[in-house]
Amino acid sequence: MTETSAPAAPATTGVTTKKAVITGITGQDGSYLAELLLSKGYEVHGFVRRASTFNTGRIDHIYDPEATHDGSPRLQLHFADLADGSRLATLLAEIQPDEVYNLAAQSHVRVSFDEPEYTGDTTGIGTVRLLEAIRQIGLHCRFYQASSSEMFGATPPPQNEETPFYPRSPYGVAKVYSYWITRNYREAYGMFAVNGILFNHESPRRGGTFVTRKITRAAARIAAGQQDFLYMGNLDAVRDWGYAPDYVEGMWRMLQAEEPTDFVLATNTAYTVKDFLQFSFERLDLDWEKYVKFDERYLRPTEVDALIGDYAKAESVLGWTPKVLPPRLAQIMVDSDVAELEASGKPYIDTAEV
Ligand code: NDP
Ligand code: GDP
Repeated sequence: MTETSAPAAPATTGVTTKKAVITGITGQDGSYLAELLLSKGYEVHGFVRRASTFNTGRIDHIYDPEATHDGSPRLQLHFADLADGSRLATLLAEIQPDEVYNLAAQSHVRVSFDEPEYTGDTTGIGTVRLLEAIRQIGLHCRFYQASSSEMFGATPPPQNEETPFYPRSPYGVAKVYSYWITRNYREAYGMFAVNGILFNHESPRRGGTFVTRKITRAAARIAAGQQDFLYMGNLDAVRDWGYAPDYVEGMWRMLQAEEPTDFVLATNTAYTVKDFLQFSFERLDLDWEKYVKFDERYLRPTEVDALIGDYAKAESVLGWTPKVLPPRLAQIMVDSDVAELEASGKPYIDTAEV
């Protein structure tokens, strides 16, 4: 079974009767977090933005209206867009959640240069719409904000909770707004509202336009003879790449902590995009340099050169450590993309055998 095929529905191992809301449940992290919370016995409410095509592919395997808790489906989906504050308030008042995880965002850095205003509205102002809805209806819930290492931007590594922000994209700027508005609601209204400052985290469910998944998909397709070249931008950027399932565990732990405070989640490892290319292509006995070509369309007007996270605070307070690091991360993703191609009826051909 691959990461992208449907695993069995998570078993209920906990006895909690808590309710959680996840915005961005259809995304990479939302899908893993929903699995985790269901496995702990939560009733999970996912906010989904309406699209003209189905966008629930990452959570279809856990959406079972027959799986009930006290007569209610354990996973319920509701249409809600971060652009629509009154809808957020109406739904939160109905659901009365114990925990709210705000994962929804226009999450792509390159796209944020093309759509800066929309990114500001969703990734930035969307957060205050949610916080203000919670405050206005008098909800006593814990709130998690998906903050990002992109907020550190040009500040040199290693970066931790005390590192000054210097965002280098409209996305990073919008996340800085969300970080501060979350802290402000904590300080002004006594809310249990925390920022998880997460460094890049990947998985077989990572969106196909982020660099890791773009690479692992291309490696699988090139090995299968379905693609000739891979066009990329800056190969020298250094990133700290972790594994998304490890990181959603950290999000949950932040909301179970005694005190509301902000945490970095990272692996404290440093690899370049070139390194990730090598790990991925090597898995299929390919030499990446034969296939990768430069395309300036993938450059950003301002780049973040190096992100390397220091997660000592999360380790000491939450007992959190990352389990999967590169190059194992790249191997997991390549293996999944090969299996996905096979399942699509266009099998991977082992070039060593032909
Ligand atoms: P994804 O891009 O996979 O998911 C983003 C989610 O937000 C999707 O469910 C998307 O819906 C939803 N969304 C987008 N716009 C709106 C909107 N206007 N209203 C409601 N929902 C919306 O991101 P990830 O899962 O990778 O990341 C989760 C969060 O963590 C994001 O906020 C991201 O910025 C942040 N983050 C991620 C990091 C990473 O490395 N993955 C690192 C640090 C922070 P749809 O499916 O319809 O597109
Ligand atoms: P980011 O760290 O949130 O911007 O995550 P990405 O996965 O989008 O990009 C990581 C790094 O890879 C950035 O420094 C990009 O400039 C670099 N990169 C190089 N080529 C590409 C490409 O073709 N696509 C993407 N998305 N990033 C690329």
